[in-house]
Amino acid sequence: MDRPVRTVVIGAGIGGLATAIRLAHAGHQVTVVDLHDAPGGKMRTLPSAAGPVDAGPTVMTMRPVFARLFADVGDRLENHVTLHPETILARHIWPDGSKLDLFADAHATHDAIGAFAGAQAQREFAAFNTTAKRLFDGFDRPMMQAACPNLLGLTAHVLRHPRLIPAMAPGRSLAQLLARHFTDPRLRQLFGRYATYLGGSPMQSPAVLALIWQSEAQGVWRVEGGMHRLPRAMHDLAVRLGATFHFGQAASHIVQQGGRVTAVYLADGTQLPADIAVFNGDPKALHDGLLGTSPQTAVKPAGVAPRSLSAFVWAFAAQPDGVPLAHHNIFFAADPVAEFNDLSAGRMPADPTLYVCAQDRGGHPPKGLERFEIIMNGPAGYTGGPEEIETCRTRTFETLHKMGLRFSPVPGPDALTTPSGFNRLFPASDGSLYGRSPHGMMAAFQRPTAKTSLPGLYLAGGGVHPGAGIPMACLSGQHAAAAILSDLASTLPSRPMAMPGGMSTGSATMASGQSRSSAS
Ligand SMILES: Cc1cc2nc3c(=O)[nH]c(=O)nc-3n(C[C@H](O)[C@H](O)[C@H](O)COP(=O)(O)OP(=O)(O)OC[C@H]3O[C@@H](n4cnc5c(N)ncnc54)[C@H](O)[C@@H]3O)c2cc1C
Repeated sequence: MDRPVRTVVIGAGIGGLATAIRLAHAGHQVTVVDLHDAPGGKMRTLPSAAGPVDAGPTVMTMRPVFARLFADVGDRLENHVTLHPETILARHIWPDGSKLDLFADAHATHDAIGAFAGAQAQREFAAFNTTAKRLFDGFDRPMMQAACPNLLGLTAHVLRHPRLIPAMAPGRSLAQLLARHFTDPRLRQLFGRYATYLGGSPMQSPAVLALIWQSEAQGVWRVEGGMHRLPRAMHDLAVRLGATFHFGQAASHIVQQGGRVTAVYLADGTQLPADIAVFNGDPKALHDGLLGTSPQTAVKPAGVAPRSLSAFVWAFAAQPDGVPLAHHNIFFAADPVAEFNDLSAGRMPADPTLYVCAQDRGGHPPKGLERFEIIMNGPAGYTGGPEEIETCRTRTFETLHKMGLRFSPVPGPDALTTPSGFNRLFPASDGSLYGRSPHGMMAAFQRPTAKTSLPGLYLAGGGVHPGAGIPMACLSGQHAAAAILSDLASTLPSRPMAMPGGMSTGSATMASGQSRSSAS
């Protein structure tokens, strides 16, 4: 090999950034392209009168995943972002006025649950917490940290650790597991909501998703200045390691020659010769042919459908009045079954649960305008017609008003991203925010893994194993890098990598079937 491996990463979301960091550190010549004009993908901001306001993820969990990424390339996460542990994990408010804070301190949570629902609820929570912890610890290494988990290997793992079997509640949904654990319906609703972190309903998601609670129980972090600082820090690290970024550039084709990836074409016709291509967009875009015909079969249909939930997301600055807010606040719907039935039927929930992130809370008490993000779950593929924005505005702000929270001013349509808006931002996603839906007992095994059937093409991101959420997307990017390095180590001597000028002949085929010259 007389030149560095040329890797093109399509997408500067968390997964793409993690891959870029690892491969640049390994000596690859890394080029990252993204159709947006900043790194972060779904970790995006909208402008507001109080500065850029987060319009994507707000809850940072599993800090060690990010700390390890920085440490493994000789840096420190703390040198680039300031992280504060949240004392209050989240504040939960119900329509009847009841309120429950969950804390980073386990004893404080135990006491709060006792004050909220009595000694029996305390015992039930302790049992549930043990189950969730057992699941998290049991599946972290063989599932989340594994690049390519398989059913046989996991079954063997479970059989070696038989206490996992009752914890998993095989064949049961998360809602069924919670019904067995909790007498108080409010606590079932609270812990059932964690299914939405993967874009699912608790009624249709497997019981094993109880482990998501543990990722929060182990700590939630506030990123000083906003979540968008994290992808910015990852971008800067990748640049320091030698990666090159092209923003505002869409990749239009992944080209193969001789049965493996040889180049990526941009929408403006630029050709980027590539030994390796990493796709960080929604894998459904490959399946739908947005990157040409060859990568289409690299992703199986069951890996991208059914779709996970979308959302209606408000990001704005205002002055709040009424209910005292923590950083993370959840205002629950009166009837979770009706809410998830609406979502399953493709409707905007008539009575939604609303998550309110008061981005500036947690540090010094804010003065004047504050930045807020409000999320209402929505169905993927939803297109609501001309009244959609007004309906969403009414359902969001009147619901909050009834529960004692008012905003001045109430934001306008520019502050709202709808499911169809997400579909425009993230091509072929149908507005779905977490890739394939987690519904069904086998969902976790249906997600595509980093390595595809097209040699030289790899996947990274929330639509790929181990799943959505920023720590998972970060892990997936690292799985992609590990798979690439391992494949290169085993195939390099026989590969035509030293071909001068890379893709130099007219015999190359565009993945779409176009000739190269017509695309350039
Ligand atoms: C409103 C909201 C709230 C969320 N809340 C949380 C939370 O609190 N905590 C949490 O952990 N997770 C949360 N998530 C999920 C989390 O944001 C995602 O799982 C994670 O950020 C996905 O990262 P990714 O690597 O898949 O990349 P993405 O963020 O999906 O980015 C992919 C990138 O690829 C680019 N791209 C796609 N196709 C092309 C192409 N053809 N050419 C060039 N570029 C292309 C896109 O422009 C995009 O920038 C939330 C998501 C949303 C939307």
